[in-house]
Amino acid sequence: PYEVLVVGGGPAGASAAIYAARKGIRTGVVADRVGGQVLDTMSIENLVSIPHTEGPKLAADLERHMSDYEIELVRSQEAVGLSEGEDGLTMVDLANGAALSGKTVVLATGARWRTMDVPGEEEYRNKGVTFCPHCDGPLFKGKSIAVIGGGNSGVEAAIDLAGIVGHVTLVEFLDEMRADEVLQRKVRSLPNVDIRLGTRTTEVIGDGDKVTGISVEPRDGGRSEQLDVEGVFVQIGLLPNTEWLGDAIELTERGEVVIDSVGRTSLPGVFAAGDCTIEPYKQIVTALGAGSTASLSAFDHLIRTSAP
Ligand code: FAD
Repeated sequence: PYEVLVVGGGPAGASAAIYAARKGIRTGVVADRVGGQVLDTMSIENLVSIPHTEGPKLAADLERHMSDYEIELVRSQEAVGLSEGEDGLTMVDLANGAALSGKTVVLATGARWRTMDVPGEEEYRNKGVTFCPHCDGPLFKGKSIAVIGGGNSGVEAAIDLAGIVGHVTLVEFLDEMRADEVLQRKVRSLPNVDIRLGTRTTEVIGDGDKVTGISVEPRDGGRSEQLDVEGVFVQIGLLPNTEWLGDAIELTERGEVVIDSVGRTSLPGVFAAGDCTIEPYKQIVTALGAGSTASLSAFDHLIRTSAP
């Protein structure tokens, strides 16, 4: 068995693996896509101490840093189940039928953004369509943008972006926003935010290089209309990659792994970090920090439970 088996090869998983390997213990990483969501982004400007990098470069840097250590990397493999094995081991079943075991396991399977699934959304991803206000807000300084979604994340994004961009149109499919009342009051008070309720977004429009607008229409029928915007922030939900865990460990209603302040899950010996957990601020820098925390907790667990 591995002493630390990490599931996931994004920032959280890479950080957990490096911290474990630096203790000189047998460390494995199983990952579907090494690099994780970082692979899907271009410009990264908020990874503190690295003023600018790009997704594919950061993904390669994470992998290079892991390769400096004796980390057994099982790539392009998907974990499909987790269970308690014999002698306190945790078993991770893979889609190819194999099973890996760990004295401790760190879950770092990340998350994916829910998309609108409308024409133009995929084509203009990173060319105006974005999912992260903290990451990309400053790229739209002074410009007109749309935020899709009136839940807490959409309304928080609209409030945040209103201080940076020129104008925000908040588009919500339902007839009311689901965000907390205090956030709704705040967003309604902002002079440069328009709110469109009961409105469906039907297309992202662009000039081939970048976004120039979106098409919207009233949900209950009626004429479609084009809004001229240069950015579209899609905030309709983040889905943690935890379906494969079933009920092996405690998850929230939204499927996030419940952890304590040191990354422990409900199952002894199993830890978690990054976007797959209840971490409220899902960023590269927080995932890196959480990965190191979970890994150090796993090490602490090992020295307390393993025979000398
Ligand atoms: P992920 O990066 O999601 O990695 C998850 C890993 O688990 C991957 O290796 C994946 O293949 C693997 N995996 C998932 N399920 C399984 C399974 N069942 N079996 C095996 N492996 C599995 N954050 C910033 O701080 N700055 C930015 O500028 C920024 N820009 C972004 C732009 C985009 C387009 C996106 C989508 C996100 C951006 N983020 C940014 C957010 C940031 O990428 C994430 O917060 C961060 O990658 C989370 O790291 P993670 O390791 O928890 O998860």
